[in-house]
Amino acid sequence: MSRLRIGVLGGGQLGRMMALAGTPLDLAFTFYESTPNCPSAGLGPVFGDAQNSTASLDAFIDSADVFTYEFENIPVAWVERIAARKPLFPGVKSLAVSQNRLNEKQLFARLNIPSARYAEIRSEQDLLRAVEALGLPLVVKTVTMGYDGKGQFLLKDASQVATAWAQLGAQAPLIAEEFIHFKRELSIIAVRGQDGGMACYPLTENVHHRGTLSHSVAPAPFVDDDVQLAAQRYISSIAQDLGHVGALTLEMFETRHGLMANETAPRVHNSGHWTIEGARCSQFENHVRAVAGLPLGATTCDKPTAMINIIGRHPDSHAVLREAGAHLHLYGKDERDGRKLGHITVSSNHHHDLDTLLRRFADLLPNPMALPTEK
Ligand code: AMP
Repeated sequence: MSRLRIGVLGGGQLGRMMALAGTPLDLAFTFYESTPNCPSAGLGPVFGDAQNSTASLDAFIDSADVFTYEFENIPVAWVERIAARKPLFPGVKSLAVSQNRLNEKQLFARLNIPSARYAEIRSEQDLLRAVEALGLPLVVKTVTMGYDGKGQFLLKDASQVATAWAQLGAQAPLIAEEFIHFKRELSIIAVRGQDGGMACYPLTENVHHRGTLSHSVAPAPFVDDDVQLAAQRYISSIAQDLGHVGALTLEMFETRHGLMANETAPRVHNSGHWTIEGARCSQFENHVRAVAGLPLGATTCDKPTAMINIIGRHPDSHAVLREAGAHLHLYGKDERDGRKLGHITVSSNHHHDLDTLLRRFADLLPNPMALPTEK
């Protein structure tokens, strides 16, 4: 029997970790990425050229049997071209919704999933009207191409309207959202198979530093069953509505009134990296299982687990690995400010011990972390 070949649009660390998870299943991988020395290089042939030419995309389509993507800010036309010739999971609809904040908001509303009130912004006057209608502060975001807090303006005062428009107006349409005074940020990752069967990982608590994920803890501590069930209900209804196959992430705010959806990602997610060592079957393995049409694995987590991002500069690998139980994942990237270079995973029997470990790793990492406060 010949090996099933999975073609991954994108060749970053998510593609790399998909391939690492799929290799024991004897799945083969190819990638479409314009940077030849990308993190996935070495795990399979990389197609794509600096011009992202149609010829290079067609060569990539020839290279595999079934396709997926690891990044949502890609032209829908590319995935349509792939889907016209070969199976693609998740489908075009999942991508089209997730890469556009207005589409996401409309989906949340249609499925009765609470999320921040918002206004669509096409002019400076629209922004002034949004201030009137929604109040301040407002979070102004680009509708497309935003990630890790990029393309955002926190509007605290009406006098900043002109500045916000000057900064983001060229990328209109924009979206202005009411500012949510959340208790914390949570995410849930689900995986849906080709037969429609679904499994959800436990809610994960995510802590950001300057707009980028600093670390995650799973299962999120102090989560009542009804909150976990609400999150599962929300993500299941989104996955079913989209006919989604593969991993799907829903980022949420936990507020005094319950969960509010922020955004979706039609893929494996940084807040799920802990699953490699912390869950029975990782998000990466489950994603490739779904794409390959295989049965899904268990999403249960046996021990509280933390994932810490390595950002901008590498730590001393010896110092990290000297810590008992630490797992180090490096993505093969050069150092650059704000760049995700790798991550560390560590598990413990109790959440309290994880806080202590997080503080220890903060001392080992060159990048600043948003630390848990001492209890
Ligand atoms: P996003 O790109 O939508 O994930 O936003 C990046 C970060 O900005 C989030 O992780 C939150 O910390 C913050 N943020 C986004 N939208 C809001 C909002 N409506 N209210 C408060 N904080 C927000």
